[in-house]
Amino acid sequence: LRRNPGEGEFHQAVREVLHSLAPVLEKRPEYAEAKLIERLVEPERQVLFRVPWTDDTGEVHVNRGFRVEFSSALGPYKGGLRFVPRLELGTVKFLAFEQIFKNALTGLGIGAGKGGADFDPKGRSDAEVMRFCQSFMTELHRHLGEHTDVPAGDIGVGGREIGYLFGQYKRLTNRYEAGALTGKGIGWGGSQARTEATGYGTVHFVREMLATRGEELAGRRVVLSGAGNVSLFAIEKAQALGARVVACSDSSGYVVDEAGLDLDLLKEIKLARRGRLDTYAEARSSARFSTRGSVFDVPCDLALPSATQNELTEQHAVTLVKNGVKAVAEGANMPCTPDAVGVLREAGVLYGPGKAANAGGVATSALEMRQNATRETWTFEETETRLAAVMRDIHTQCVAAAEEFGAPDDYVLGANAAGFLRVAEAMRAQGVV
Ligand code: NDP
Repeated sequence: LRRNPGEGEFHQAVREVLHSLAPVLEKRPEYAEAKLIERLVEPERQVLFRVPWTDDTGEVHVNRGFRVEFSSALGPYKGGLRFVPRLELGTVKFLAFEQIFKNALTGLGIGAGKGGADFDPKGRSDAEVMRFCQSFMTELHRHLGEHTDVPAGDIGVGGREIGYLFGQYKRLTNRYEAGALTGKGIGWGGSQARTEATGYGTVHFVREMLATRGEELAGRRVVLSGAGNVSLFAIEKAQALGARVVACSDSSGYVVDEAGLDLDLLKEIKLARRGRLDTYAEARSSARFSTRGSVFDVPCDLALPSATQNELTEQHAVTLVKNGVKAVAEGANMPCTPDAVGVLREAGVLYGPGKAANAGGVATSALEMRQNATRETWTFEETETRLAAVMRDIHTQCVAAAEEFGAPDDYVLGANAAGFLRVAEAMRAQGVV
């Protein structure tokens, strides 16, 4: 704590992992001797930099850029870039730390990193976003490379931003190095199913969790937070598998549609128009928009928090339990507060932590890197089949590790232990570096 003051989210993420690793470290004292934990919680490198740019009126702005390269034990640093107002180092560090275990669980040879800037793309013109991305990449490019560090998108960084970032990377390096960024457009190095992967993967994971109790996804009532990349494609997959998705949210409020969410309309509003959810309710008589309470107040069988960290609080968890929720799987990173997780687990609700449940996005990024390296392009079906297999395998690893360390059903222990063991073995083999 003293070493990293003011980094509350980083402390929260580390505490959760270390707490659940206690039974693992008891069985493997050799890891303590090698000071693995001390090394694991210290990023290999952190880069902070100035991002100056000019808006459409000619005014100069100065933002701060971040890239935390946390662990290269299993491969090049890999993790997204987030553009949100007030982004802080502690947030980037928590995200990069979580990424260590998540990426290890995919089994795909990727290390861990995360980055971004305290820049808000909302309300900015395409030309402003382009100038910002170009300035951001002017510094970041020195740290990237297909064998070094490979960013992707995250909140506020979608296909448009990745395009501008890649264009500037190419210009500065004079190399068409497709493997240096993922989330690229289909047709210039991107992978089929990357856009869909995180949301689809979360639904695959929740289906596996339900199956352990002999239950099905079809017919279940689902509520999600967020209406961005992760949420929209989680809705798509959940609906395709027969679930009834009745509510989602954005930063302005939430909509409930008892007739089932109209995904085409949602995509039109959130992806094509970059609009707000109140316009959804204006267009559908079965829907209502609200800014009071929370989307998690809406009764459901399955809740998929998929917007941002610490959005699902203890009080929300109490309401979800009271309303009979059966499973909560995190599409976002650390969306449930520790107290909320306590309430859910106490009540016997299946709880899938983000590092397992939302690993489908980074897994498909690794598949994009593989296609870039071999210059192959796979079909949507082929890529999705591989994604589904990775999610099944992650689920199996979590269950096996949870059983091995004496807490079946505990996906937090399972995910942390399985991810940790893979990284720890690599770190030990590579010596004190
Ligand atoms: P997007 O920017 O595409 O969407 C985020 C959504 O959440 C938007 O609808 C946004 O509202 C809403 N939101 C953001 N912040 C808040 C807030 N403070 N309160 C309420 N709503 C909020 O991001 P992604 O879908 O890509 O990412 C969502 C989460 O999933 C993040 O935690 C991210 O780290 C995680 N994740 C993403 C992956 C990916 O592949 N994209 C991979 C793994 C994890 P509005 O529409 O109004 O902006």
